[in-house]
Order: sequence, then C-alpha cells, then structure tokens
Amino acid sequence: MKVPLLDVNAQNLPLEEELTATFTRVLRSGRFIMGPEVEALEAEVAEFVGARHGIGVASGTDAILVALMALDIGPGDEVLCPTFTFFATAGCISRTGAIPVFVDACPVCFNMDVEDAARKVTERTKAIIPVHLFGQSAEMDAVIALAGEHDLYVIEDGAQAIGSRYKGRGCGTIGEFGTYSFFPSKNLGGFGDGGMVVCNDESLAERARILRMHGSKPKYFHREVGGNFRLDPLQAALLRVKLRRYGDYTRARQENAAYYTRKLSALEGVVTAAPAHCCCASVQDESLEEARVVLPTCYEHNEHIWNQFTLRVRGEGQRDALKRHLGDCEIGCEIYYPLTMDQQECFTNLPESSRTGNEVAHRLADEVLSIPVYPELTREMQDVVVGALGKFLGVD
Ligand SMILES: *Cc1c(COP(=O)(O)O)cnc(C)c1O
Repeated sequence: MKVPLLDVNAQNLPLEEELTATFTRVLRSGRFIMGPEVEALEAEVAEFVGARHGIGVASGTDAILVALMALDIGPGDEVLCPTFTFFATAGCISRTGAIPVFVDACPVCFNMDVEDAARKVTERTKAIIPVHLFGQSAEMDAVIALAGEHDLYVIEDGAQAIGSRYKGRGCGTIGEFGTYSFFPSKNLGGFGDGGMVVCNDESLAERARILRMHGSKPKYFHREVGGNFRLDPLQAALLRVKLRRYGDYTRARQENAAYYTRKLSALEGVVTAAPAHCCCASVQDESLEEARVVLPTCYEHNEHIWNQFTLRVRGEGQRDALKRHLGDCEIGCEIYYPLTMDQQECFTNLPESSRTGNEVAHRLADEVLSIPVYPELTREMQDVVVGALGKFLGVD
C-alpha cells in the first residue's frame, strides 16, 4: 500500500461541492481584490487564535516581512531567529537589511533554545522570532522574559502552528505579531499561496495594513514604502470553508500522533524524548544514548497540532538509510530540514558571530525524518508505516 506524506485531495475533494459554490460566489461578485471575503477570514482567524486583529497577506513569508517592516527593523539591526527552521524566517530578516543571528535548537522539541538566544543578544539586537516548529509552541515564557530584559520585539512565526496553544494561549498571539501561512502543506492549507498577520495592538495593525498596500493611506498618498502583500478574496473565501472544519483536522492529526507514539514506542530501540529532557536548558541526552529512533514529544503545557511528526534517527548514515527504506516501501517521508540556516550558502557573508554555536541544530539536521501524519491518514496506513519501521530496525 502506498502511503503519501500528504494527500491534499483526500481533504479537499470531499468539500468539492461547497468549494465550487464558493468559487462561483466570488466569481459572480466580481470582487477580486480585498473586500468582504478577506475581511471575514481576517475576523474569523483572529477570533479563532485569540488575537484582536488579523491582516490577510499573500503568503506566510510576506506575513513575516510585513511584521518586520511594521516594527521598523532594518540595516544596523540584529534579529534572533532559530537556525533550525524553514528558510523564510531568516530570509525575511535578511531582506529588511538586518542581520539574522542564528540560535541553536532544543533537541527535544526542535524549537529555539532560548538560553542560547540570551547568549547571542548584543546592543544591536532589536527583535526575536521564535518559530513554533512542526506545530508545537516555542518556550514563550522564556522568550518574553528575554525580550523584556533587552527591550526586544517578538514576532512569532506560526506558519506551522495556527491554532496550537502555549499554556492555553494561541500561538501567534503572545508577541507583537504572529504570522501564519496557508501554503497547501500547512495545517490550514489553501489553494495556492496565502498568509495572515495577527496582532493585538491597534496602531501596529494599522501600520501592517498600510504596508500591505504599498504604504498608501489614503490611496495614492504614500507616507512610506510598502508593497503589494495582499491576500486574494478567492483564496480567503475558500479558506473559510476549511476553517470551519479545522477542529476536525487538528483532532485527527493529534489522534494519528498518539497512535504512532503508542505503536512505535513498543518497538525495541525506539524511545520518546521525555519532557524532562527540556527545555532550553543544557539538555542531558545520555538516557537517549541507546535509542536508535527518538519519537517527538509534546510538553504538557502545549497543545501540539502536529504539522509534522518528526523522528530523530540516530547513528551515522541511519537517517538516510531509513529514508531510502521508506522510499522502497512507497511510504512518503521528508527531511525537514537537511541544512540549518547558518550552513546556507547565501548566509556565508554574514558576520561569523551570527553563525556560531549551533551544534544541536547541526545534529538534528543529520537525524530528522518526518513521516505522514495528515488528518486523512488511516490506521491501516499508519500500521504500514509502523511495520516498515519495525522491519528497518529488525524488530518486527
Ligand atoms: C511555510 C513556512 C513559512 C513560509 O510560508 P509561505 O506561505 O510558504 O510563504 C515561514 N516559516 C515557516 C516556519 C514555514 O514553515
């Protein structure tokens, strides 16, 4: 049985009638830029995550860029961000002219090691961008404490974590800005590119709205330079259909993750990284020494939405061997991410000090492998994945 890493049709085609009717509604409205569909999605997402304002934008990348621009981040500034993340986080910092300063990762939750962030603060540091990687919140109390101490802005990159929670609070609603992506592989996946910025401060929200439309207010009067960062109403209307089902999608992902955890931890050589191993303190990894595969874990104070279910495969070459084995079994899997930001060619011109001390992240880049966890995955398919892992470990 083939098991894909993600199956967008399995989610979208059951909604075909409603999606088609929605398309027809937008088509007949003749309104293809901004307007009521965008405003409705903004209000619905803001309410869903628990923020006061939502600003629809063209992608999760533009969401980060607009947030940085609204906070006047630019040349001469440094911004702390994880080194183990998708490129957009660091790329946007760089595009403003600021210097991204790369922070090491926690080996248990994969998120930013805030103690390492603290070591990398300088008098030029203006902001910190925690990423809620794979659907689980970064350690926000520590981030907010560090930001308070050094007067830093906080932008939460919630591209993979819309609707996930930290101590009951929606990811993305804690810092100055939160950013989301509607890229089709994200938990709220659209039909092309899309994104959203959320915030609680009225004047920051207004600034982001103005920047989204070339910095103009009123139209054709530009006090500052913005861009075209708008979300299409067609995309917004279609996303509203899926937002109504989002709770079901999340529940299914959580059940799938729980099933994997139960089944996989029964295999010899597989362990769950105990929450006690974190967070963001110098992590003692010895009790994991014997493990060949380490399962992802969710801290008790977090609600994880499982954008990815990411294994750590230990031992030289073992991750790549498992990837090949799953490929032979026609099971989808992917390495998120094979190279950390401090290792990227485009950042080799950055000052050495912004790229040092990321040993944990480098190890993760060598060990991680994400396996299918999407909502429509069946138990039968999961059993195929578990069986293939057992075979690889020689314990089935
Ligand atoms: C996907 C993603 C982005 C970018 O979102 P796009 O909508 O693809 O531009 C940014 N940050 C993280 C962590 C992501 O996973």
